[in-house]
Amino acid sequence: MLGQMMNKPLLISSLIDHAGTYHHETAIVSVDTDGDVEHTTWAQVGENARRLGSALTKLGLDAQDRCATIAWNNRRHLEIYFGVSGGGFVCHTINPRLFPEQLVYIINHAEDKVLFLDATFLPIAVKLKEHLPKLDQVILMGPRDEEAADQLPGLKFYDEFLETGDAGFDWPQFDENTASSLCYTSGTTGNPKGVLYSHRSTLLHSFSAISRDSLALSARDVVMPVVPMFHVNAWGVPYAAAMAGSRLVLPGPDLSGAALVKLIDDHKVTLALGVPTIWLGLLAYAEKSGSRLDSLERTVVGGSACPPSMIEQFREDFGVDTIHAWGMTETSPLGSINIPLAKHRDLPVEERHRLRENQGRPPFGIQLRVVDENGQDLPHDGKTQGDLLVRGYWVLDSYFRKGDDDILQDGWFNTGDVATLNEDGYMTIKDRSKDIIKSGGEWISSVELENIAIGHPGLADAAVVGVSHAKWDERPILIAVPAEGRSPTPDELLAFYEGKIASWQVPDKVVFRDELPRNATGKVLKRELREEYDDILND
Ligand code: AMP
Repeated sequence: MLGQMMNKPLLISSLIDHAGTYHHETAIVSVDTDGDVEHTTWAQVGENARRLGSALTKLGLDAQDRCATIAWNNRRHLEIYFGVSGGGFVCHTINPRLFPEQLVYIINHAEDKVLFLDATFLPIAVKLKEHLPKLDQVILMGPRDEEAADQLPGLKFYDEFLETGDAGFDWPQFDENTASSLCYTSGTTGNPKGVLYSHRSTLLHSFSAISRDSLALSARDVVMPVVPMFHVNAWGVPYAAAMAGSRLVLPGPDLSGAALVKLIDDHKVTLALGVPTIWLGLLAYAEKSGSRLDSLERTVVGGSACPPSMIEQFREDFGVDTIHAWGMTETSPLGSINIPLAKHRDLPVEERHRLRENQGRPPFGIQLRVVDENGQDLPHDGKTQGDLLVRGYWVLDSYFRKGDDDILQDGWFNTGDVATLNEDGYMTIKDRSKDIIKSGGEWISSVELENIAIGHPGLADAAVVGVSHAKWDERPILIAVPAEGRSPTPDELLAFYEGKIASWQVPDKVVFRDELPRNATGKVLKRELREEYDDILND
């Protein structure tokens, strides 16, 4: 015998055991569906997760059976994350903003046996239950509620269900490659596709997420994931927070600027994570209310491009460092994070700030390439753009139940994004490949034009799409949402582009709207905008 190290599988149950033991007193603050703020600890979450794992086992579920959730970010949802996966079942988080037909498709495709629901979403279950033949149990995430019980025969209640479980339940041990959780992409075309994560990929992603050049969660942080727990596992934050022993603030249903500012100030949040649209509301309210967001050290922004003006506002007005990150449901999601290198320390301050604007570099475990239409590698010169490919320890190999279709390109996953990479691996997302604008044979990045427009103080939101043009095939138009009480003119908005981009890239027209159409994960539905305005330049 040469002798070697222990071979212990990387299991999600070990995360909650660690947090429950070594960070047992650490607080979890949770906003309930009815707005009440509840305080608990990692020890209590750990005990309830065991009870849940035990109660589900007693129901007679088979290993790997899917247990779905339609729920906000709250304490019970956190317990379900660990109890379901720890018990050897698959935690399937569902986005409540999907259309009813998509919900039915997803629940049936996943063959969910159990559905955990927050009270807000009970009407969905009442309406859809008859279309869900495989679903055995619906469990309302709260105490017994007679009114709810009358609405759905057989409805169970989470708090009572936990009582049927055993707090001394031993977590089952199994292969770390076993599936742990399931998330469907929002899919703008065709049916949503499932991405099935494993215990191993989740643990490796967590090790990466807590590292210093990534999200750097620690036992000194108070972390508020505003990104929903139904969107790529809240970017893996619940797992990473358990690994690091961070305090958590789970914001519940109200994600208004006012509610988030209050949570940050009341609970001294140091790190908050979310998409740019939510942060627009937070910043607007913080400016109005005079909050200094004193405790907040860092925000992580991803999901769509973070406008440079937002990074600047966080930095200049609130002393908050914005960490721009990129990822996808298919990449668990962390694919790149913008953190500076040692060599950047002595650069002039403007240059350092500019370097923080892009989507950042891949952490260990992720590799990125940009290729042309023939799959040939393009130079990492920070200028040449191409299709972004990714591979790594927490990147999808094949979609859930999609048979043997090889979706990879020589072992790499094609992200559908168009990007540049520089010599240090810093990546800039130019567009989704289907949204990039092709004008007279030249490419125009809609993301770049949007980033500039959002920086105009008269606008609350903006999108740029390419529409038909008789001479140039396609030209960009700016779809602008005025800020409260402001009415900028088209000329003023177009003049704002002067000196920032080449004149031929400036949009041909501005149209105003009260809001932008968005999909279930908050991404602008550019296809709808293109269809609506396609004739606007030809008329
Ligand atoms: P989803 O799987 O719904 O999270 O969507 C993933 C897609 O969101 C990516 O392929 C990108 O197009 C987009 N995305 C995510 N993060 C960023 C970012 N920081 N900048 C620009 N686009 C992003």
